[in-house]
This record gives sequence, C-alpha cells and structure tokens, in this order.
Amino acid sequence: MTTATDYEAAALKAGRELEEASAQEILRWAADTFGKRFCVTSSMEDAVVAHLASTVLPGVDVVFLDTGYHFPETIGTRDAVAATMPVNVITLTPKLSVAEQDAEYGPRLHDRDPDLCCSLRKVEPLNRGLGGYDAWATGLRRDESPSRANTPVVAWDAKRRKVKLAPIARWTQDEVDAYVQANGVLLNPLLWEGYTSIGCSPLSCTAKPGEGEAGRAGRWAGSGKTECGIHL
Ligand code: SF4
Repeated sequence: MTTATDYEAAALKAGRELEEASAQEILRWAADTFGKRFCVTSSMEDAVVAHLASTVLPGVDVVFLDTGYHFPETIGTRDAVAATMPVNVITLTPKLSVAEQDAEYGPRLHDRDPDLCCSLRKVEPLNRGLGGYDAWATGLRRDESPSRANTPVVAWDAKRRKVKLAPIARWTQDEVDAYVQANGVLLNPLLWEGYTSIGCSPLSCTAKPGEGEAGRAGRWAGSGKTECGIHL
C-alpha cells in the first residue's frame, strides 16, 4: 500500500527530476502515478491546464469552486468546458450559501474580512473536495506574481498531505497565449474586457488592473491580500 510518506518522497523526487520537463510530461507522470486519484483545479479563467490534462488523461476530473460570487462569464466558461472538452467537471460549493453567510456573518464579508470569506468559500470547500484525491494540479505560474515566483512543478502539499502539481509553472504569458491559439482553448470572455486575473465578482476582489500594473494587481487591490489562501 502506498502511504502519504511514499507520496511525499515521490513528490520531492519528481519536483527535481521534472523541473525541465514539458507540461505534458509532468501531467503524464501524475496520470501514471495516481490515475483517477488525480484531478485538475480550474478557476475557469482559461482551460489551459484542463486541456493539457485531457490530452494525457481523457476524462480527467476538473474541479471548480463555485463560491456563489462568480461572474456569469466564469460560470459560462465552466459550462462550456463541461460541454465541449473530454473532462469531468466537478463543482464544489461552500457549506453556506451567500444568503446564509450574510445572515451569520453580516453582508459583504468580502469587503470586511476577505480572508475569512475566502476561507469559508474557497479553502474549506477545496480541502473537503480534494479528500478523494492523492494529487491535484493547478495553473500557477511563476511569472504571475512575486509570491508565485518559486512555485515548484511538483511539490508536497503538507497541509493537505497530497502531491501538488503546477505543470505550467515555468510558462510565460506568451507561451500560454501560443498554446491557446494553437489548440483553440476556451478562455473566459472577461479577458477581452481588460481583466487579467479573474476571481470573484465583488470589486474589492477582482478589478481591472491599472495601466502598467501586473496581472494580479486587480485582485483584492489595495488590501495587501494577494492570495485567497488555497496556495498558502
Ligand atoms: S475572492 Fe472575495 S468573494 Fe470570493 S471568496 Fe474570497 S473574499 Fe469572498
């Protein structure tokens, strides 16, 4: 029987050995090692990692967190991915609806305590949803922000005791754009409206970046918060 300790060692070894590997090679390793106990998470900003994973593991589970605060375009992208790609989209939801959260914590928690809001609507549902998997892949890239600059391609997610992959960690935005172009990958239409990073719809959580600002500058702008907590 494979234990978490075995997977931790395998993750550290793969992180070293696959540093220069292509995204498909990294995903192939995950498919061969974990099979159906591997999933991809997607914010539905684009379907790049879901597309890559579907080429090595058709029918792969693509996990989406429906916080209840998404833009309609994000839900539409999720539905288009489910309808047109050889993947199995799984939607996770928080324990509380937005109305129930408002009743318990007061309205607009995202403006008053975004860390708590993200914890309730993103971190807890993801932790619960990943229970059935040994490994998960994300679309994290090193060029997205300073906090992501050292993202390993394969790592041990000690909090969740799972292997965590970032198969496009080394990609640049130009490489993402080229892959999208070459493969007709679905994109969230908000990317054509000036958004460069798409999360929940409250303005305090997702705004269009200003002239010359970095891709994730519009996320929780001015609050000092840079991550929702899933990747911390
Ligand atoms: S991004 Fe904003 S609305 Fe979404 S869970 Fe976090 S604080 Fe709440």
